[in-house]
Amino acid sequence: MVQDNVDLYCEECPSCHLLFWISLEHHNRLVKSKESFSCPNGHSQSYSGKTAEQKLKDCIEEKERLRQYWDDSCAKSNEYYDNWKKVEKELKKIKKPKKKKRKIKASGSFKKKSKTDLKEVKKE
Ligand SMILES: [Zn+2]
Repeated sequence: MVQDNVDLYCEECPSCHLLFWISLEHHNRLVKSKESFSCPNGHSQSYSGKTAEQKLKDCIEEKERLRQYWDDSCAKSNEYYDNWKKVEKELKKIKKPKKKKRKIKASGSFKKKSKTDLKEVKKE
């Protein structure tokens, strides 16, 4: 029986890369059922991958997840920023303790000379 006006779907075999046509109706059924079928050379295959519908659903879910993550991150960073500002204010309120001024003598050596050393120096 020859059917007119049948929508065809061009399929490429992943094994032998042979192009063959199946009816679009049959194609849709295979996609939904993930049933295995064979190319004219007998290579078994199936639409095990995700359908466009599934991919779209996954994308929407991923987008929603990322948006949620973004919102959380923004909320957290705002919180950190507020806390930081509070700490800054507190710091300004607290008077800085006066630093004790120390006179630092420029010296070539950090090693303290003992009394005996000084005596030896005087002898020279
Ligand atoms: Zn094949």
